Amino acid sequence: MMLIATTVAVALVASTLLAAAPAATTAAIPPMIVYVATAAELSPRLVARLCAETDAIWRPAGVTFAWRRTPRASAGALDAAPSGPFVPDTLRLTIGPDRGGGRDGRLPLGWIVFDDAAAPQQDIYLSHANAVTMLENARGVVGIADQMPPAQRETLLARAMGRALAHELGHYLLASKVHTPHGLMKATLTAVELFAPDASDFRLEPAQRHALAARRPADPLVASR
Ligand SMILES: [Zn+2]
Repeated sequence: MMLIATTVAVALVASTLLAAAPAATTAAIPPMIVYVATAAELSPRLVARLCAETDAIWRPAGVTFAWRRTPRASAGALDAAPSGPFVPDTLRLTIGPDRGGGRDGRLPLGWIVFDDAAAPQQDIYLSHANAVTMLENARGVVGIADQMPPAQRETLLARAMGRALAHELGHYLLASKVHTPHGLMKATLTAVELFAPDASDFRLEPAQRHALAARRPADPLVASR
């Protein structure tokens, strides 16, 4: 289950960070900047792999991310929200042990909170603890987690967490807390959907792609005015 407190909105607005984006970026639209703070015990490789999973899900929709690792202590610093009709294109991602407020006994892998329908917070939380519990509970799908080689465990956790992160980013990017029966914005994911190698079901529906395109101006300089 993905917990969404309220609504969301998105923006692409010029910033010095975006202006400094590498020229090799293939997307026409600059990447969203995501500041990543993680619990100390998390392996950097797991974090890199879950970000790669998220990248792969969003790339077909033309959305790219610039992941910026940041110490926990400085994770509070975000670019000031620009004025204008769009919310900032910078987000803060925290990956840690919090378990969130799951309903119906389900475990939220990630969540995003907003001040009100028009004022999204630039924060996504990803629960490593809940991902581990889900893995341990998915014995019938993936086998016994405790007996897996560390690399296999990491592969499975990176998939589930990367897919959950892609979903939460969808709430932000689509400016909507709406869930769909299929695809990336499905509310509840089965163990197979979280842990299987194939992520091709994690797609936006056509109407969502159109909504996203309308929210992402091709020229961020124009959008900032
Ligand atoms: Zn959701």
